[in-house]
Amino acid sequence: MNVFFDVDYTLINMYGKLRPWVREVFQQLRLDGHTIYVWSGVGVRWPVIRQHHLEEFVADCYQKPLDDHHRRLPDLGVKVLPDFCIDDYEEIIAAFGGAVVRPYYWNDLLDLEMHRIYARISSHRR
Ligand SMILES: [Mg+2]
Repeated sequence: MNVFFDVDYTLINMYGKLRPWVREVFQQLRLDGHTIYVWSGVGVRWPVIRQHHLEEFVADCYQKPLDDHHRRLPDLGVKVLPDFCIDDYEEIIAAFGGAVVRPYYWNDLLDLEMHRIYARISSHRR
């Protein structure tokens, strides 16, 4: 599947720190044969991906449409359709499907949301 991850409060917190288990889950999703994309409402976030050394797992980064979601994809250069999205913003999941993630605002080494998200992706049938 084409799995699309949001950035702010999904992968990183307000300090720019990476959520626990992101790297491990990205690695496992690739091993499972999924393709990982990262998108953000504030632009293309390769710098964040590189800062956390995740570029080997990420096929591409896009800007995320914040309204008129499906129609805006071509304008934003999104070349593939999401099969499963992970976002702390429910509107994106309502538009494209996937799982809402609990927002990751502060540092929390005990945060296990990525484990739950991995299970959701793995059990999803198109
Ligand atoms: Mg977000």
